[in-house]
Amino acid sequence: PTSTRRFKRVVVKLSGEALQGSAPHGLDAVTLARIAADLATAADAGHEIAVVVGGGNFFRGIKGADTGIERARADSIGMLATVMNGLALEQAIEGQGRQARCLSAVTMPSICESFSRRAALHHLAKGRVVIAAGGTGNPFFTTDTGAVLRAAELSADAVLKATQVDGVYTADPKRDPTARRYDRLTHDEAIAKNLAVMDTAAFALARENKIPILVFSIAEAGAIDGALSGRARATLVAP
Ligand code: UDP
Repeated sequence: PTSTRRFKRVVVKLSGEALQGSAPHGLDAVTLARIAADLATAADAGHEIAVVVGGGNFFRGIKGADTGIERARADSIGMLATVMNGLALEQAIEGQGRQARCLSAVTMPSICESFSRRAALHHLAKGRVVIAAGGTGNPFFTTDTGAVLRAAELSADAVLKATQVDGVYTADPKRDPTARRYDRLTHDEAIAKNLAVMDTAAFALARENKIPILVFSIAEAGAIDGALSGRARATLVAP
């Protein structure tokens, strides 16, 4: 695997699911601490890190809409879920002795700072891990799109997409034993082959802005720095 240490500024996309560990929903303290330690290690190695957190461990808009909540309102609940995760992650990172700032796309000044490009760049320059919560701040989007959007506006070198498997496969490796893993792919190939790396809107934005996406597994301790150093297997989607 090629070293991706050259990706100095990165946006790490963590789904809500990644923070719940083996719990049926919500947060798992041990998992949070492990991921926070991992983020701190990557920051110590010299990377500037912004994290975009999902909210699926608490609430997903589409599911809420299925139960009769208007989609836009359900998505507001989903965005609030991402802020809950962001605050928990902020605490966990500070528990590792590294400063962190949760910035929300949905303004709630009594709880955390509002996201702005200027504030995020300021905190990154101070060596803080920035947590961009609230997704894009708009309904009908996902935090995958939020991650690519933040990467574009912060001129990040790559999006690190944490998943349950160690890269992009020809098919779901948990269901299809013949699935093969890609080391490298172009955005065009991923779209043409209909590989479900991220949702289509996120992917289109990444292609448009030529943002590399490194897909890796968050399952093991040290996963984030492992992906950045090339120690861990990952798939690089790049032009
Ligand atoms: N959401 C939204 N706009 C955004 C990002 C997220 O409305 O820009 C809502 C949406 O309802 C989504 C929920 O927040 O289902 C949680 O985000 P996501 O599903 O991306 O979380 P993940 O699957 O990564 O845990």
